[in-house]
Amino acid sequence: MAESLPTHITDLLPRFHVLRLPMVTRFRGTTEREVLLFEGPDGWAEFSPFTEYRAPEASRWLHAALEFAGLLPGDSDAAPPSDGGSAPPLEDRTSARPHTSNSIEVNATLPACLVADVEQILDRYGSVGTVKAKVAEHGIDSLPEDLDRLREFRRLFPTTTLRLDANAGYSLTEAERACEAFAGFGLQYFEQPVAAVEDMARLRATLSAQEIPIVLAADESIRKAEDPLRVAQLGAAEVIVVKVQPLGGIATARSVVEACGLPAVVSSALESSVGLAAGAKLAATLPVTERSRELLGDSPACGLGTARLFAEDVTAGGLNPRDGRIPVTRIVPDPDRLETMAVDPGRRDWWSSRLQECWTHLLSRRS
Ligand SMILES: [Mg+2]
Repeated sequence: MAESLPTHITDLLPRFHVLRLPMVTRFRGTTEREVLLFEGPDGWAEFSPFTEYRAPEASRWLHAALEFAGLLPGDSDAAPPSDGGSAPPLEDRTSARPHTSNSIEVNATLPACLVADVEQILDRYGSVGTVKAKVAEHGIDSLPEDLDRLREFRRLFPTTTLRLDANAGYSLTEAERACEAFAGFGLQYFEQPVAAVEDMARLRATLSAQEIPIVLAADESIRKAEDPLRVAQLGAAEVIVVKVQPLGGIATARSVVEACGLPAVVSSALESSVGLAAGAKLAATLPVTERSRELLGDSPACGLGTARLFAEDVTAGGLNPRDGRIPVTRIVPDPDRLETMAVDPGRRDWWSSRLQECWTHLLSRRS
């Protein structure tokens, strides 16, 4: 960051908006998502760390937002605070080339629904190439229902690409049992069956020893820039799921993906469409390596179709997927919505203090 940055964030960001967006379903115990939005030279950006996150973590989200707005340099010199860790040797970069598309593929999500609802839920997405099915809602106790739902899915969509996501819902032994049961469904990958990165590595070793053909992807294991390197070093997963804000911005996310050498899938942190646009930009510029083509195909579907989880977004259409794709574009919030969805003054003050606290944290970590 340049030396001329002000001590007070309001000198950099004299104007910002804090919105409360209603969601369709409950997430993290709430049906509302608060987001702070502002406009910079490059366009609108979103700062929306979950409300329980403290400054050391939330400041990376701020770095991402400032960078996307064009208020910080967007190169690797602008890397957010690091907690240590060093890059392993670069691998598999020889054939790397960025996507050049102006839209990207996104996956549909099949929640832990009743078998009878599978068809109707997926019909709402229109034509999609990739579906991510949630499993393990109640850990291993959900296995019989999960299997019934997946059988129904495969009956209806025999050739659609299928991913599973357990959101770390199993213990290691439960995950081994579940993987054996899921192996016959032709999975592209299985996201985070267990919580600990060491257990992910153990599970992967077991799958390999028993020749169970399941590729593991790390999602919850990746919350900051050092994590992908650790996942790669431990051999805990073959695919990583990356999110722009937690990793500190597009430039950092791209460099950690390149440094760790693992194929990456870009996902959202449940942003409004302003924040999803940053994810789309990252996805559109990530290199496609031979390994990523082998595991994920030419254009891996991203987890960026989450605008549909909001009952109201920052614009009327937002970045809602159409036939499994969203455009790579910038979103300008509707001025009326900036007014009508604004939080009350007390809540705005809370966000204003948080913004300054995160900024102070960023400045303190500059050297
Ligand atoms: Mg996940």
